[in-house]
Amino acid sequence: MPRFVYDFAEGDKDQKDLLGGKGANLAEMTNLGLPVPPGFIITTEACRAYLADGAEPDGMAAEVTEHLATLETAMGRRLGDPDDPLLVSVRSGAKFSMPGMMETVLNVGLNDASVHALAARAGDDRFAWDSYRRLVQMFGATVLGIESEHFSDAVEAAKKAKGTRNDLDLDAGDFERLVETFKGIVREHAGRDFPQDPREQLDLAVHAVFDSWNSPRANLYRRQERIPTDLGTAVSIVSMVFGNLGMDSGTGVAFTRDPASGARGVYGDYLQNAQGEDVVAGIRNTLPLTDLEQLDKTSYDQLMDIMTTLENHYRDLCDIEFTIERGKLWMLQTRVGKRTAAAAFTIATQLVDEGMIDLDEALRRVTGAQLANLMFPRFDRDAEKKLLTTGMNASPGAAVGAAVFDSATAVARARSGERVVLVRRETNPDDLDGMIAATGVLTSRGGRTSHAAVVARGMGKTAVCGADELEVDVAAKRFTTSDGVEVAEGEVISIDGTNGEVYLGEVPVVASPVVSWFEGTLHEGTGDDLVDAVARIMRHADETRRLNVRVNADTADDSGRARRFGAEGIGLCRTEHMFLGDRRELVERLVLAESRDEREKSLAALLPLQMEDFTAIFREMEGLPVTIRLLDPPLHEFLPDLTELSVEVALARERGEVDQEREDLLVAVRRLHEQNPMLGLRGVRLGIAVPGLFAMQVRAITRSAAELAAQGVSVHPEIMVPLVGTVQELQAVAAEIAEVVAEPESHVNGAPVPHQVGTMIELPRAAIVAAQIAESAEFFSFGTNDLTQTTWGFSRDDVESSFFSEYLEQGIFGVSPFESLDVEGVGHLVELGAREGRRTRPDLKLGICGEHGGDPDSVHFFHRVGLDYVSCSPFRVPVARLEAGRAAV
Ligand code: PEP
Ligand code: MG
Repeated sequence: MPRFVYDFAEGDKDQKDLLGGKGANLAEMTNLGLPVPPGFIITTEACRAYLADGAEPDGMAAEVTEHLATLETAMGRRLGDPDDPLLVSVRSGAKFSMPGMMETVLNVGLNDASVHALAARAGDDRFAWDSYRRLVQMFGATVLGIESEHFSDAVEAAKKAKGTRNDLDLDAGDFERLVETFKGIVREHAGRDFPQDPREQLDLAVHAVFDSWNSPRANLYRRQERIPTDLGTAVSIVSMVFGNLGMDSGTGVAFTRDPASGARGVYGDYLQNAQGEDVVAGIRNTLPLTDLEQLDKTSYDQLMDIMTTLENHYRDLCDIEFTIERGKLWMLQTRVGKRTAAAAFTIATQLVDEGMIDLDEALRRVTGAQLANLMFPRFDRDAEKKLLTTGMNASPGAAVGAAVFDSATAVARARSGERVVLVRRETNPDDLDGMIAATGVLTSRGGRTSHAAVVARGMGKTAVCGADELEVDVAAKRFTTSDGVEVAEGEVISIDGTNGEVYLGEVPVVASPVVSWFEGTLHEGTGDDLVDAVARIMRHADETRRLNVRVNADTADDSGRARRFGAEGIGLCRTEHMFLGDRRELVERLVLAESRDEREKSLAALLPLQMEDFTAIFREMEGLPVTIRLLDPPLHEFLPDLTELSVEVALARERGEVDQEREDLLVAVRRLHEQNPMLGLRGVRLGIAVPGLFAMQVRAITRSAAELAAQGVSVHPEIMVPLVGTVQELQAVAAEIAEVVAEPESHVNGAPVPHQVGTMIELPRAAIVAAQIAESAEFFSFGTNDLTQTTWGFSRDDVESSFFSEYLEQGIFGVSPFESLDVEGVGHLVELGAREGRRTRPDLKLGICGEHGGDPDSVHFFHRVGLDYVSCSPFRVPVARLEAGRAAV
């Protein structure tokens, strides 16, 4: 029978799957001998069982009783004892941290009797009644599902009656009356009394934490962060310590380094005479942690020592929650802290320099998503700007958008294509939709550890927090600066999450220094710490990775940029892009040609143009392989739109102006029109159906390559045939290619210019019969866009904007299979194709050129199944290099 409950002393930090992140780290700190209030953890396994069956698993209640008894013995008090109560907090803690997404209930064990005992023990009536009203409030909102406004409105009313705006002015009597009011609210809205039985409070709170795993906001957060939906949360039951026992008590959060820049120092916020969530919620403005040294030097020194211990132990930036109860420091939480992308790189290299970790570990600690984040543009320092205010630089980046004041408006405006900045006094988990929709978040309250800051950093979204000179009026949809400037909904503002500045209007943006470094216009060792850190880690990734990284590019410009970004060749040059613009007419003539002669004329006219294209790309990629794909899309894509042309011809007829050329064109467009062009006349089918088309393209490739080779340029063309389903198709095209290669113009020094012929694997059939296809292919490149489309039967152009959001919402997918490879299905075919292909041809070169080539998770998969390279769009080349390195350590 599985165990469902563990004491802190029984766990360790590596048991996050079972004990959740919070529980595992509380256990670790306990075993490090740090001052952690005693407690125990109910496992994620119990949560999963509860969620599956709608009831606690057998045996859990007895285990809770047993561990509670041990805790009561250790503390010398019984839960909710009317004479001397033990109080506990009930805290959620999943494997991955989900800040503010799930529930916590504090002060469990208080009731009408024990509140008096608590007051007597603390010698403080106000404290006891404040704690009790907090319990009823949290219990009501969290466990009984009552709208939290009912409670906060009652607090506001109490303050108003007292003529104050500050919680601290409320006295014991006020809180006692609030408890009564709150109990009334519970009775009215939950249809039951607030439970007086401490164990019932505890059990219901645990169930509420379990249930909160499936709350809509937690689901949304997990989708955003790609956290699996079936992990469940653990629950930590911790004996209460109190930060609200007077001015010698308080609660705070701290980082061992600056989570924004990675700089060492003392970072954090402290709030005197406050409990639990007050700091994170940004309810009152906090003091900087450094002020604690004056307030309580003993606790401050001890905290500094503990922070050093934790950094050395975890060998990483840690974030910490602590409480001081009448001068005694307690550690309530630690975890390896969330950080900005820039800090991730700088901290990783700092730790290498400090000898704490090696470069492999540094590489593991950064991600491609973080690198991508650093490649975003920033505000132009030299641009003229109107500064409105400065807040805290909570999450870096440059965001420009229309100011909006609520989540729903943010979502609605973003949906219609507008960029918006969400402006709030503070955010809470209900603002998540709006935060996702917005390009940036601005708050007037709360510090670097407020909900807005933590969540924005996690999402890689720009945020400025605690801009407390701003008067934000959510109801009137406007904010006012201290100089009286008013900004109403819809007015554009620019926020700089790197320095905390907020500007009126749109500030122009410039390239990031990391991109400048990739481009070669900014150098390592010239004073930019971030560039130095990125350079060092990229170098190590390149030394470590086995996968090559190529680029999908079809212009000389893109090829050049990608080469500077580290591309080691072109994995996909889509030639269809070369048939657009003013060449469209030539293609149109080709499509409409009625005789061989006409067709050959059009092909002859296209040949020199294609040669120019390839020559420019070969030059740019000198010395590197260039995979050129023969024409893929349906021909009608190069013709006018059927509906538009039909209308035009009909109107002309009505006017009596019959234009025979347009009439003929309409007939051809009708003939070529397909209901489902993605599954029609495209790819290799086109090459077989339109004689001479592929030969012309191959001629352009081999001739331009031969010409360059004759000039001493090192060229490595690879000719790629798309959408092959059977080896016979490939054989037909290969024969045509061989004829072209035999032409003297394709020769250099009397021999055919060196080249390879290969195919894309983008149909399930191709993957299944890969062993046969490999007989005629020197390389395979998996076209995972089409392979996803054809494996799932999803139209890649349609489904993402139709039912995918519903699928994501319902958790049918964690992420779109077009974005991140569906490893089980499509990945299985990739694995099969690779294995079968190499069975025939052990030296078969294997690559992937679908969008997944630049997706971090997918890159790890391609590494695992033994591909030789991934190919992706130019901007993702650095990301793929980094992830390929990470996959190899
Ligand atoms: C693919 O299908 O994965 C591919 C790279 O080709 P395209 O996206 O051009 O169809
Ligand atoms: Mg394709």
